[in-house]
Amino acid sequence: MPAETPEPHGPSIKNTLKINEIFHSIQGESSWVGFPTVFVRTSGCNLRCRYCDTTYAYYQGDLRSLKSIESEIEGFGCRYVCLTGGEPLLQPGSFELMSRLCDLGYNVSVETGGSLDTTSIDVRVKKIIDVKTPDSGAADSFDRVNLPSNPQFSVVNTEFKFVICSEEDFYWAEKFAIENQLYEHTQVLFSPAHQRVDAKWLATKILSSKSSARLQTQLHKFIWSAHVRGV
Ligand code: SF4
Repeated sequence: MPAETPEPHGPSIKNTLKINEIFHSIQGESSWVGFPTVFVRTSGCNLRCRYCDTTYAYYQGDLRSLKSIESEIEGFGCRYVCLTGGEPLLQPGSFELMSRLCDLGYNVSVETGGSLDTTSIDVRVKKIIDVKTPDSGAADSFDRVNLPSNPQFSVVNTEFKFVICSEEDFYWAEKFAIENQLYEHTQVLFSPAHQRVDAKWLATKILSSKSSARLQTQLHKFIWSAHVRGV
């Protein structure tokens, strides 16, 4: 990890971030699936989804300056950066980091749990917004400010993701996407919840229901394993 250089005006809540891990891997999700990507995993989450595979990010982490994070990212020589968590939007420094990385010419994306306001995210950033289904255990957490019906919400670069745990979840997600006109304005991603439903079942369901959802699997779990950390 590069040595810390003091920020010009000293540390502040906007120019620091509590970071759980930074690593270089293959993007396993979203429309950027397959691209080599630097993942910046922030610490802390306000939700507790039943299928969460990053529980280690709830509390573990170190406070880092944005400058030191940028230096570490630069060292990977990679054009794509994904801010993930935990919940990145819990920390004001995430918004600042995303804009700074865009200014530096990176392709930046953020994965958020959908419970926090995304409207002040830099429009150059690809937003992947989770909508938590009933079987996630975190239903009703979605902040409806993150919908195309809100004039302050930008649909540019926006993808909505539903992790499907059951047949009930599938129909709930399809109804939510249709009622809120997500298909008209954005990409809609349906992902099978690990060890709850499989990709074949979900693919069949999408086809037989004439859904327009885009099936996504977690590619990184096929390449490595569901239990390997930092890939
Ligand atoms: S939002 Fe993500 S990190 Fe938070 S509990 Fe749910 S799956 Fe885990």
